[in-house]
Amino acid sequence: MKKNIFFLCISLLLCACNKGNNPSNSADQVQIQIEKETLAIVIHAGAGTILKENISDSMELAYKTVLEKSVRSGYEILENGGTSLDAVETSIRILEDSPLFNAGKGAVFTNAGTNELDASIMEGKTKNAGAVAGVTTVKNPITLARAVMEQSEHVMMARKGAETFAKEVGLTLVDPEYFYTESRMKALKRAQHRDSASKTSYYDPFAKDEKFGTVGCVALDKSGNIAAGTSTGGMTNKRWGRIGDSPIIGAGTYANNSTCGISATGWGEFFIRGVIAYDISAMMEYAGLSLQEAANKVIHEKLPEMGGDGGIIGIDQKGNIATVFNTSGMFRASIDKTGTLSIELYSEDQ
Ligand code: ASP
Repeated sequence: MKKNIFFLCISLLLCACNKGNNPSNSADQVQIQIEKETLAIVIHAGAGTILKENISDSMELAYKTVLEKSVRSGYEILENGGTSLDAVETSIRILEDSPLFNAGKGAVFTNAGTNELDASIMEGKTKNAGAVAGVTTVKNPITLARAVMEQSEHVMMARKGAETFAKEVGLTLVDPEYFYTESRMKALKRAQHRDSASKTSYYDPFAKDEKFGTVGCVALDKSGNIAAGTSTGGMTNKRWGRIGDSPIIGAGTYANNSTCGISATGWGEFFIRGVIAYDISAMMEYAGLSLQEAANKVIHEKLPEMGGDGGIIGIDQKGNIATVFNTSGMFRASIDKTGTLSIELYSEDQ
């Protein structure tokens, strides 16, 4: 209501200022004003075999409570005139600090029983980006990714070097023990047991489901700037310094003000090979598809054709939100351009 009155006043003011001028000019200005005021935010916390029958009411409530806190905190920043970058970082930090998700505290374990964290962030106005891979002592990898973007001339840093940089810029470091959770350790044991029983690749059909909980956020701020970010512990039982799509710009994260912002989750190897986040943006840019059409094509056609699964969240420059996945569920929440909150865990047919 307040917003409507605000826009009405702006419209009247612009009309008054333009008296005597070409009337179509004032209409254009009002249009620009309205588009610039559009806000939207969407988050995800992983896609996979997420079935209602496997999640108790109390766990469902626990997931939804953190999702709501995260999306509302980001939105509040946008409402107060903050940047989409601040909103994305804030929302993701809340998810990283929760043991429920596969990012920060609660990250999955590698084959060696360690937690190696990946994250990336990108802003659509400048196409600046920052990413980190394989860090083990940084409490909030998304904040380190942002520091790489803003406080270094590089885009991506890995392992010890990234941690030295984190120390230099004064980020919070923790003992690697901080990331330990019982449930993720049990998931590692299950994966390793299957491994030794089958002697097949560690990407057995169940390993994918031992990891859901990667987190991401995309936001559009009052100035029309889109930002996107993603943070993860990767895949349970990963080996040999494996790095997934989440810290790879164009695969797990992408943002371009003239198309969209995207954060992805799923089987990372396929998202890297399909350059999934950028592919959606490219289809919008070069083929004129809408965000929803491009995301449907990539997630429901191109990704499964390669054998991959997962999903994406995205926002276009008009504030339209897309949440698309080819798994049975994806933890997601959004506040759209009308201010409507939505929190969902499962696909619509469950
Ligand atoms: N994409 C992440 C990775 O492969 C995992 C996930 O999103 O669940 O590292």
